[in-house]
Amino acid sequence: MARVSVNSLRKEFDTGNVVAVDDLSLEIEDGEFVTVVGPSGCGKTTTLRMLAGLERPTAGTIKIGDENVTDVHAKNRDVAMVFQNYALYPHKTVFENMEFGLRMSTDLNETERERRVVESAEMMDIEDLLEDKPDELSGGQKQRVALGRAIVREPDLFLFDEPLSNLDAKLRTSMRAEIQRLQNELEITAVYVTHDQHEAMTMGDRIVILDGGELQQQGRPTEVYENPVNEFVAGFIGSPSMNFVDVDVESTGSRLRLTGANGGFSFDLSPAYVNNSEVALDSSRYTLGIRPENVTLVDPGAADSITATIDVVEPVGSDNFLHLDVNSEFIARVDSDVYLEPGDRVSFTFDESNIHLFDHETGHNVF
Ligand code: ADP
Ligand code: MG
Repeated sequence: MARVSVNSLRKEFDTGNVVAVDDLSLEIEDGEFVTVVGPSGCGKTTTLRMLAGLERPTAGTIKIGDENVTDVHAKNRDVAMVFQNYALYPHKTVFENMEFGLRMSTDLNETERERRVVESAEMMDIEDLLEDKPDELSGGQKQRVALGRAIVREPDLFLFDEPLSNLDAKLRTSMRAEIQRLQNELEITAVYVTHDQHEAMTMGDRIVILDGGELQQQGRPTEVYENPVNEFVAGFIGSPSMNFVDVDVESTGSRLRLTGANGGFSFDLSPAYVNNSEVALDSSRYTLGIRPENVTLVDPGAADSITATIDVVEPVGSDNFLHLDVNSEFIARVDSDVYLEPGDRVSFTFDESNIHLFDHETGHNVF
């Protein structure tokens, strides 16, 4: 296993003049499971392919362990990659698929190779499939074989490129657990790419968020959730998304008043939350961000509350999501035993300690 150091990595593609990855630096600890997430086209696959040695960086360096591998060919890197489409050899059996990499990249003898394949097959619970060909397998079984083929090589680094995207929701959940179990057991260093923020949040020790080829933020999932550095991260992480609304900011003596949605609502922030912020008073350059769980229903007409009409009630099991209309829409998460219907008038307030303000122009979190 190994530590990975990525320094100022850049990839330009001549076709289409694309900068797929721009000045990306990352440190991945030995045994750490890092998830990389972002929308389609943000450079996730290109980043992984550079780590694997399948794509040559335009600039920057990659170190795996103590070795600078930037110019080392893929086959000479101790890296295994698992793909969305499994990439199994169709004419080889499961056994042969798993053994092939060992044959190419090690000088283990036949007995030793067989021992390793059987051991990995047992770990993936596919020992009964060893004589089958890929087209006899279900999607889930194919992905188990692809994982088995990766672990059999005992590589320094595992790379996963959206490996569960082709599986149905239930299987995806159980495979996530499986991959985490393997990671714990084998103490593997892994970079796991996904476009699914939920998957990234639940699986990663650390989550790396990309947009437009650029690093937006990295940190523990709770850190990123609670302290998003900009509006992009705030909106991308969490489901349903954070509520956003443009606000005017003005000082009312000791308090800071936020007014939004063409006067549809206003909210006073108490002094304790105003100090130390970079917020300029008397300005309309801000977007208020508040997560659905921080929009709280209060008694009708309670002091400092905002009154709204319920547009939609969306039940999701233990919670309901209420769509609240105050010229602009807020989604609130409430317990499902709170009985409310579309058309009902309710009062709500924001949990002050979880309010974010983003600069209009830069999107930076300033509060
Ligand atoms: P993701 O995996 O996050 O969806 P990719 O890394 O595949 O993103 O792509 C990042 C950007 O680079 C996209 O704009 C994509 O069109 C472009 N790109 C990827 N591979 C190539 C290539 N071989 N040639 C030209 N452009 C490419
Ligand atoms: Mg991709």
